[in-house]
Amino acid sequence: MSRYWSPGIARLTPYVPGEQPQLERLIKLNTNENPYGPSPRVLQAVRDALGDDGDGLRRYPDPDAARLKAAIAAYHGLSAAQVFVGNGSDEVLALVFQALLKHERPILFPDITYSFYPVYCGLYEIAYESVPLTDRYTIRAADYVRPNGGIIFPNPNAPTGCLMPLQDVEAILRGNPDSVVVVDEAYIDFGGVSAVTLIDRYPNLLVVQTLSKSRSLAGLRVGFALGHADLIAGLERVKNSFNSYPLDRLAQAGAVAAFEDRDHFEHTRRAVMASRDALTLRLSALGFEVLPSAANFVFARHPAHDAATLAAALRARHIVVRHFAKPRIAQFLRISVGTDQECDALCDALADIVA
Ligand SMILES: *Cc1c(COP(=O)(O)O)cnc(C)c1O
Repeated sequence: MSRYWSPGIARLTPYVPGEQPQLERLIKLNTNENPYGPSPRVLQAVRDALGDDGDGLRRYPDPDAARLKAAIAAYHGLSAAQVFVGNGSDEVLALVFQALLKHERPILFPDITYSFYPVYCGLYEIAYESVPLTDRYTIRAADYVRPNGGIIFPNPNAPTGCLMPLQDVEAILRGNPDSVVVVDEAYIDFGGVSAVTLIDRYPNLLVVQTLSKSRSLAGLRVGFALGHADLIAGLERVKNSFNSYPLDRLAQAGAVAAFEDRDHFEHTRRAVMASRDALTLRLSALGFEVLPSAANFVFARHPAHDAATLAAALRARHIVVRHFAKPRIAQFLRISVGTDQECDALCDALADIVA
């Protein structure tokens, strides 16, 4: 608190990211990072972008990230004018809230969802209503067909991992022709069907994706949005009123290479999905209720063991998972899918703890 702060700053409730512990030899299953490394072609592209003489650091990057937009557009079968890029999808989302989601009426998002959404609402003074998930922790499309100033939800949802079928996403789009509908697809590559194919039919659809999870590049900070060129133009106006260069040269070069290496992407995402399904079976065998996940994490609770206590017991064994002390989900643990070795260590520890 300081009298020098602008009015309202003291009232903000900033987002708290999952811990990045500095400890060595930790099994880190708390922030949904990919357990596998990025494509070797990304590493080479970043080295090349740096240049022997460091020119990649001396000069400003392309403010429009044209090569990256072209690579993303080609991958998704869109035009470059339908692509917006930013410094991680968190930054893209921040610009989306400011550019597209501030209207008369409150916006809608689920009661259990990505906890950054209410933070952006606080920052931009956007009114919102949270819509309860069903008893089975799913999003019901019909609940979103009512007057609103915009709609946003992750698909699959976070932290539940539950996937909404594409026809339900389309029902929300059809029922809201006067609102922007933002589908945050941070985890879509782990088994879901993207709403990108609906973009040509719904000018109110914006799809947001990230390279942090399925492309193992959380440290590079690259996210993007796909939608009608008019929505993208609105985002560009806000971005260019805020920061001309959100993506540095290394990030742009690395991200282009990530889209060029389809084999690495396919191979690693399939490995993560297989490990997730094996982890789900093992946790179920230990008595956990595991929500059906289409993400690179599982959301699970044990009927006889308190989640915070389990998280603390795991931490004592150098395994970190995420626990949210929040209504309706305080008895769940969110566990990122690690390598098979890491998943085995987790399950061995839990077997020991619940025994
Ligand atoms: C991880 C995540 C993001 C943010 O990813 P970036 O690393 O900022 O690209 C956005 N939305 C959801 C639902 C996420 O889980």
